[in-house]
Amino acid sequence: MKYTDTRDRQVSVSFKDAVMGGMNAQTGGLYVPCSFPALDAAFLKKTPTPSFHSIAYAMAQPYLDGEIPAVDLHEIIQDAYPFVPKIQPLDRTSAVLELFHGPTCAFKDFGARFMARVMAYFNRTEEQPLHILVATSGDTGSAVGSAFHHVPGIDVTILYPDGKISALQEKQLATFTDNVRALKVNGTFDDCQKLVKTAFTDGTLRTRFRLSSANSINIARLLPQAFYYMYAALTVRERYARGRTLSPPAIIMSVPSGNFGNLTSGVIARMMGAPITGFIAATNSNRTIPDWLATGTYDPRPSVETYANAMDVGAPSNYERIAHLYTLEDVRKLCASFWTDNAGIKKAITSCMTRTGYIFDPHGAIGWQAWYDLVHGALGTTSDGTAHDWQTPGVTPTIPDWAPALASNNAVGVILETAHPGKFPAVVSEAIGCEPPMPQALLDILRLPDRAIPMENDYAQFKSWLTDTFTR
Ligand SMILES: *Cc1c(COP(=O)(O)O)cnc(C)c1O
Repeated sequence: MKYTDTRDRQVSVSFKDAVMGGMNAQTGGLYVPCSFPALDAAFLKKTPTPSFHSIAYAMAQPYLDGEIPAVDLHEIIQDAYPFVPKIQPLDRTSAVLELFHGPTCAFKDFGARFMARVMAYFNRTEEQPLHILVATSGDTGSAVGSAFHHVPGIDVTILYPDGKISALQEKQLATFTDNVRALKVNGTFDDCQKLVKTAFTDGTLRTRFRLSSANSINIARLLPQAFYYMYAALTVRERYARGRTLSPPAIIMSVPSGNFGNLTSGVIARMMGAPITGFIAATNSNRTIPDWLATGTYDPRPSVETYANAMDVGAPSNYERIAHLYTLEDVRKLCASFWTDNAGIKKAITSCMTRTGYIFDPHGAIGWQAWYDLVHGALGTTSDGTAHDWQTPGVTPTIPDWAPALASNNAVGVILETAHPGKFPAVVSEAIGCEPPMPQALLDILRLPDRAIPMENDYAQFKSWLTDTFTR
């Protein structure tokens, strides 16, 4: 497979170059595979549905064909995924795709763990270790640190602003051992980012270290997220086919989105043959994409803080990939969109708990509310001519191609739950009146000793720490 670039379709690079480069430094564009080969028809029809690992292998294979041999790919997948996604039925027409069963209890484990092992594979013939530097304001750092933890040939240094992240987030960052270290910087997130950026442009440092970032725009994080869409769509189709004489239901994936990497992965799974009819792009008050669908104008803006803070993105980087693959009209046909504010997030958690007994985290709750509103006629009202005002929370007044399946009650919603509710005890307990259960993985982390190293907001100190710590 060759990879091209969102800004220059003449670009053609290998998987290794796309992964190790992260993005195209010359054009500033993002890498995209040149094609999205559909899985074998026989494979897609298999009953029972193949395992998550078989699906992951079948889907990954064409993207690294000739660059990673079969045995090594099997090993990468086995090692990346000691956990699997789980599908919980909610009611007759909806199910939750739980993506929080990995070590950091959030969906980013699926992408980050695959990328870490692929990078280690490509680095295996190098004499020097690869050094990953990440600045984090909370969540991404833990997914990256955890993904690379104990991965041979790679060192990770995470910088976070001391005293500016939640106690639980700090535990998730500061308790790694071995090849992953955390520096608590006496400064802000921007200071952390500046220290990292300065290191990347420091010529003397770069001659001593092979530096890399573990950016969320890396293609090796995007492709593996397609695995769980395929797995979920095939599983849901099989379950809902049982005892039904109707035509197979339209499967709609409701995706709580920020940078839109997750939704882009869903689109990739669909191109590869996943029986997915459509998507719902669900956001918090950072509604750049819903506004784009409503108005036709893409207007990136500064982000605003919300309860669903992993989605606080005003300029979603994967817009560029979506716009490379589809026209605005295509996107409107394929996707409904929805946004809500903090009050709406809290109300959604309460309302879902009351109606179904299921406790969502603040991110997944937005996806649930979007699906609930659509099932209860939010599109119908707009087709009657009384268009919903897209400036207030709710469904965007564009009509996707799958609206008739919804109207005739032959659609099943799959809501992606991107984090465990126990990661957000404050908001969730306000919404449901009691503390959400804590997953075992987080309880275990709470007992570990803190190992973060204090660091002044001072590049000279940071640099000498790096060179003293890693003298090889
Ligand atoms: C990162 C994140 C999202 C947003 O995913 P994108 O791929 O950026 O759209 C949603 N929920 C949680 C919990 C996340 O960590």
